[in-house]
Amino acid sequence: MDLRHWVEQAVSSIQDWSGSFGSFEGHPALAVDDADFGKAFGELVTRLGDNYPYGHPRYAGQMLKPPHPAAVVGYLAAMQINPNNHALDGGPATSAMEKEVVAALATMFGFGEHLGHLTTSGTIANLEALFVARELHPGKGVAYSAEAHYTHPRMLRVLGVEGYEVPVDGQGRMDLDALESLLRTGKVGTVVLTTGTTGLGAIDPIDEALALRSRYGVRIHVDAAYGGFFTLLAGAELAAAPWQAIASCDSVVVDPHKHGLQPYGCGAVLFGDPAVGRFYLHDSPYTYFTSDELHLGEISLECSRAGAAAAALWLTFRLLPPTPDGLGRPLAAGIRAARGWADLIESSPALTLYQRPSLDIVTYFPSGSSLSDIDPVSDRIMHDGMTGDDPVYLSTLRVTAAAMTARHPSITPDADTTRILRSVLMKPEQEAYIPHLHARVESLTRP
Ligand SMILES: *Cc1c(COP(=O)(O)O)cnc(C)c1O
Repeated sequence: MDLRHWVEQAVSSIQDWSGSFGSFEGHPALAVDDADFGKAFGELVTRLGDNYPYGHPRYAGQMLKPPHPAAVVGYLAAMQINPNNHALDGGPATSAMEKEVVAALATMFGFGEHLGHLTTSGTIANLEALFVARELHPGKGVAYSAEAHYTHPRMLRVLGVEGYEVPVDGQGRMDLDALESLLRTGKVGTVVLTTGTTGLGAIDPIDEALALRSRYGVRIHVDAAYGGFFTLLAGAELAAAPWQAIASCDSVVVDPHKHGLQPYGCGAVLFGDPAVGRFYLHDSPYTYFTSDELHLGEISLECSRAGAAAAALWLTFRLLPPTPDGLGRPLAAGIRAARGWADLIESSPALTLYQRPSLDIVTYFPSGSSLSDIDPVSDRIMHDGMTGDDPVYLSTLRVTAAAMTARHPSITPDADTTRILRSVLMKPEQEAYIPHLHARVESLTRP
């Protein structure tokens, strides 16, 4: 699709619709001179140059990439109307689209009945799931792994709920024996499991943890903010069991603004039991007047939310649906890229693979004999990589001495932590670019 053409169509179609209500005079207080605009816009574009090239395959750092053009056009079209999905009063069309995309996400996870909505982010989506968990298990705490996202303990502080950190195994997955010891204390009401940790992409053993749920009467919430869409590859590129087990969990969070090709401002939370909607019960003196149907604000902690985010995801799903043949294809390319690069790193004397990638995150480090050798070189490679006329953009990950020696016992643990290199390969174009990335990073090991 031609982005320029469809951007123009998005503008003219909405202007036509708007015009159908009759023309009116624009107010001079809002008038902007075209030359002034041009000058200010020029400054904006110049300032936007101060960014890393997130959309280029040579950007292999953090979890960042531009949205799909379909999402850009869908967002732009709807944003000109600026619907608010808080209430049907504010966005009837985009509220209906939100219900449809949420149903598609529920189907993707194997949820039949469900209650859910989009959120501004994964953090807010997790907050909502943990809020419901607190209402159902008042006075009990929440367990999460040492490699769970850093916002879990933060949001538990907001909720006034005790958090318990559970150690991980040698692959960065929650240690279920340690979890069970914790559950025996009776202090925990909810366990957060992560399918795709943000650091390593490790997948917690959800299928095995389900047995503990019935034994200890806890809720299981799945944080699939980053990894959720990889469930489309369960049974193909990925072992099916942990992904299939999500369908039996109590709630799940996924971020369409990570692997769903969306611009920021698009997370989602889903509950298996629609009855949890009662915890959101409230009335609003301002809204909820145009319809007796569900207003999404009645089941959301947030009030205003961009209807445009729902429109963007809806349009994207019409073209790249959450199916193995739709969104599954770019994700599979990312996994192949990660595995392919891991193979190259394993056969390189200059680099050492930290662990085999589970999803599309590769972790590696300049070969060295101690933590204090590795740390400054990782940092230097990251910085040197961004200079010159053939840049590569990598990120670093701080790992503990125990985590490193669990994987690489021969490395001397002469420091508490060390930085290693980390690359998220979330653009399918990177599959073909791996040989180049690898050659560049290898050459960076020789200053
Ligand atoms: C990114 C991420 C979050 C936080 O989501 P935001 O959308 O950045 O707020 C939570 N959990 C995991 C596993 C993540 O990768």
